[in-house]
Amino acid sequence: MTEWQHAPWLQRLWQQLADTQTRHAHAIAIEAQPGLGAEAVLKDFIALRLCEAPGKSPDGSACGQCASCGWLASGQHPDLRLIRPAALEAIQVDLEALAEDEDPEQKTSGRKLSQDILIEQIRPLAGFLQVGSHRAGARIVWIEPAQRLNRSAANALLKMLEEPGEGAIWILLTQQLSSLLPTIRSRCICLKVSPPDAGVARRMLEALLNSQQKTPRQGDTPKAALISLALGLSHHAPWAAQQRLLDPVLQAQQAWLQTLAETPQGWFSTLARQWADHPPEQWFELLERWAMDLLQASHQLEPIYFKTFSEAALYRVKSLGVGDCFTLIERLFAMKANLRHPLNPRLHAESALLLYADFCRGAAKC
Ligand SMILES: [Zn+2]
Repeated sequence: MTEWQHAPWLQRLWQQLADTQTRHAHAIAIEAQPGLGAEAVLKDFIALRLCEAPGKSPDGSACGQCASCGWLASGQHPDLRLIRPAALEAIQVDLEALAEDEDPEQKTSGRKLSQDILIEQIRPLAGFLQVGSHRAGARIVWIEPAQRLNRSAANALLKMLEEPGEGAIWILLTQQLSSLLPTIRSRCICLKVSPPDAGVARRMLEALLNSQQKTPRQGDTPKAALISLALGLSHHAPWAAQQRLLDPVLQAQQAWLQTLAETPQGWFSTLARQWADHPPEQWFELLERWAMDLLQASHQLEPIYFKTFSEAALYRVKSLGVGDCFTLIERLFAMKANLRHPLNPRLHAESALLLYADFCRGAAKC
């Protein structure tokens, strides 16, 4: 059993994908946040569609032994095209170079790589789809992340979807279905992978961490508080949370959250100093979600993101109203657009902290 088969929301996706086969769908668009595991399910689905002996495996997956399965394993299947922005491909190359202990700079230096999927990547697919498949089966194009299709690439794709070749299957993976042209969406079977609730996500992450522990050279089991924080920051996407647990900044984020919750003596200058040394997204998302949890608390509701700070959130909003929480959230939202401006990092940090200090003063006045 592969990891994703333990995840109920992914079992559902697998079933939905199987249904698309019964419906002879030639285009499928899937909305999923990164780290929810959709890619792993799609890989298995694609392997099954391309497998030459699909009934052989008892669990309904690809056989793993035929020529097609062999090609997939070697990453070079003639009937599959993976279309991604060049910049993302380069990250992959970098990771491989690092794994081989080479200098990653060598492979990508001097090139300005596109963050978008370009028409030059879509046009050649016409040739790929017109020729018969190499193994008389399906030909699959997997585009991800499909929200990065630029305008002309999207229009070229639309034309191809209007006349899909025999046996062609288009798979579009996106973080937001609404980012696709409505005319593209209307030609696809659209599926949505919803994040699991907090308890289910936590159990899945713990299972992932346990299986990781069996391999040598893994560190200690992360503390429960860090697991909870990683999940909160990842919108309950277990694989994304697993990545966060490997990032040393998570420890700092835990301490920042504690400081925001308790506002001890000197909290403002401590955070201003520390945040100035980090990219804004590392502290801003924390503050933003903490504000959302405060709003929840003001409604006497459970936190959405940071379960272990549930009591601290209730205490913090004790003498505040829902309106105060809304004001804080609105101000942070307005600030978010400016975060990309190359201001002095300390100025960004202080502006955000001033908003929070204002909010806390509201409590002190009552
Ligand atoms: Zn096979």
